[in-house]
Amino acid sequence: MRGRVALVTALLLAVSQTASACPGDGGQQAAPAGAGGYPRNETLYTSGTQWGPPSSWNPVIPGGVTGTVGLIYETLFLYDPNKLAMTPWLAEKGEWTGDKVYTLTIREGVTWGDGKPFTAEDVKYTLELGKIKAVPYSNLWTWLASAEVTDPKTVKFTFSDVRYQEWDNFLYENAIVPKHIWSTRSEADITTTKNEKPVGTGPYEYLTHDQDRSVYKKKASWWATKALKLEVKPTYIVDIVNSSNEVAMGLLLQGKMDLSNNFLPGVANLVKGSFNIKTYYPEPPYMLSANVAMLIPNTTKAPMNDAAFRRALAHSIDTKKIVEGVYGKLVKQADPTGLLPVWEKYIDKAAVSALGFTFDTAKAKSMLTAAGYTDKNGDGFVEAPNGSAIKLSLIVPAGWTDWMEAIRVISSGAQAAGINIVPEFPDSGALDDARTAGNFDLLINNWTEMSNTPWTFYNYLFQLPVQEKQFNANFERYTNDSAWALVQKLSRTPTDKPEFQTTLAELQKIHLTELPAIPLWFNGLWSQVNDSVWTNWPSSAPDAPKHLPTTWNNFWERGAIYMLCDLKPVSK
Ligand code: MG
Repeated sequence: MRGRVALVTALLLAVSQTASACPGDGGQQAAPAGAGGYPRNETLYTSGTQWGPPSSWNPVIPGGVTGTVGLIYETLFLYDPNKLAMTPWLAEKGEWTGDKVYTLTIREGVTWGDGKPFTAEDVKYTLELGKIKAVPYSNLWTWLASAEVTDPKTVKFTFSDVRYQEWDNFLYENAIVPKHIWSTRSEADITTTKNEKPVGTGPYEYLTHDQDRSVYKKKASWWATKALKLEVKPTYIVDIVNSSNEVAMGLLLQGKMDLSNNFLPGVANLVKGSFNIKTYYPEPPYMLSANVAMLIPNTTKAPMNDAAFRRALAHSIDTKKIVEGVYGKLVKQADPTGLLPVWEKYIDKAAVSALGFTFDTAKAKSMLTAAGYTDKNGDGFVEAPNGSAIKLSLIVPAGWTDWMEAIRVISSGAQAAGINIVPEFPDSGALDDARTAGNFDLLINNWTEMSNTPWTFYNYLFQLPVQEKQFNANFERYTNDSAWALVQKLSRTPTDKPEFQTTLAELQKIHLTELPAIPLWFNGLWSQVNDSVWTNWPSSAPDAPKHLPTTWNNFWERGAIYMLCDLKPVSK
């Protein structure tokens, strides 16, 4: 779960916060040189990604400080969500040159932070790190057979099993590291090092950090300035560790924070006021959509193992009430397929109109009756076809107030249709354990997010086999061999082949018919800016940049890096 602040307090309280809200800046008012002595008009203050003291700059292991990948280390390609296309980055180009061969040409003129040249050997070395079991992309070597440097600019990849979709995803999600530094480390060091002196190819270098912040400094030169006419504008980036909602809102209002990627309930009211605060859209849903929140039934337990029951449940949910009442329209209702707005063109509209669901209590009731779920004992709730009572718990973490409110809406909607669902709020650690181990009835989850391909969504939904512990996919523990076969087929199909769309359509039909997970709403790419120091932020305005306005991990390589090039300092 990204960009979340658990504490929700009244907007007016936040507005009344005073200038001393930022820990570590001694309560000083904004001065020409801000906290730490960085000139304010050359410094970008951000927040919304880091949740504890900065502790790791290791680009091989996810979860490092924001910008470790993106600002310091870089990827071979970027993914452009506006075009659903890959943009060459450290790679000059990459193409399939044989049935099972992908040839990658590296960009010339790229150097590491220590002045050494970036080489094809760095690329080969980084991919081969995946041969270490503890490296998150070790799975790559179950379908990649070899990586071979055929000349100083070229790496030839030969696959045992060609997975086009997964490969593209790999190419923009994983940072390349310098062989001359990392090859001096042991396998254990590679996966555990905090890498406190990171050396990358990116536009920034690590400057310093404290318990509450990370600071980056722009490098004297960056390859993309010459190669792509790109120049990042802030000399310094100070990323503040999230503390509370009041602090984030207070800093933003005072102009001590330029970009907040927190969920800030009530921000819609500030956008309408004269606080210099803006969101991507000036009206609902205010934010771009980042991921889809879904109701996850545990399909290994009755009655959640019955598709007819799950479909009836879907019809009992008043999502509009959640979107408007809980979120004040900061999110939007999900498409029944769960496919994000960036994947709109892939949605099979005919399947949605035939098989989709909408809020309709009467229909939910009649669907339950038709499937044998009736109130046999007159307590107002249906029993299972075999007569056993149904009482289900629906869980979200305590303190996630928006989700807590949302599941109250879902539970009361279900109860109105005759399904006895009770909302419960375990702490987030207990919930994670329950989700991983499959010890739950129903929960809300939004693991998947926008990517280069809907394959990531269906891989999340249908991945088999179901293991004792499920860490990042198929939390509903749904077993459907033909759906999983289609997901694998999808990964092996190039996007431009007609079969890509027909396979996607089949997956949508299975999902809509079976509803192993019920799409509810699209979470926002939480992003609010104060434009009193920096302007030209991404927005929906016709002449504004359209890149993703976020500092979240993995989003720099989804194009957020361009935001730093588009920014303009406000002239004094
Ligand atoms: Mg009953």
